[in-house]
Amino acid sequence: MLLKIVNVGDPILRRKARALDPDEIRSARIQDLIAWMRDTMHDAPGVGLAAPQVGESLQFAVIEDRAEYHKNVSEADLKERERKPVEFHVIINPQIELLAPPDVAFHEGCLSLPGFMAVVPRARKVRVICLDERGKPRTIEASGWYARILQHEIDHLDGRIYIDRMRSESFSTLENYQKSQKK
Ligand code: ZN
Repeated sequence: MLLKIVNVGDPILRRKARALDPDEIRSARIQDLIAWMRDTMHDAPGVGLAAPQVGESLQFAVIEDRAEYHKNVSEADLKERERKPVEFHVIINPQIELLAPPDVAFHEGCLSLPGFMAVVPRARKVRVICLDERGKPRTIEASGWYARILQHEIDHLDGRIYIDRMRSESFSTLENYQKSQKK
């Protein structure tokens, strides 16, 4: 099932989301929500989707960076961004630690601000302690583009959007960004 993605301006995107307890994680309601968020992320398509983006102020996000999405990205861009496929997984109640300064600057976008992009400096490497979709503890160490996805999604759970961290002069429509990339 596809869910409606909430756009910027909706107060739910600015709220700190509530943590889930392990029993709640295994409930039909949360398991259904995870499956529907997965469908919604694939349909968009996107590489991550946080629960507040579908109107649920809960501390979790789904992430997947499929190899097929990389076909439209040049080899040089993939290498520069350290972008590699990431399998589908769920992060719940995540705690993030930046293992490098937030000084890697690339354009990113957000499904809640369709049609726009901006340069956002992010840490190259992070550690995330969280629960998985079965409520089991998990530690993730990530670098490159995957580290960026984690920072972006976990920001959503804290009520933060990439525009809070962007280099504002770089803010651009997707169309103008694509034009600038062709030069
Ligand atoms: Zn987003």
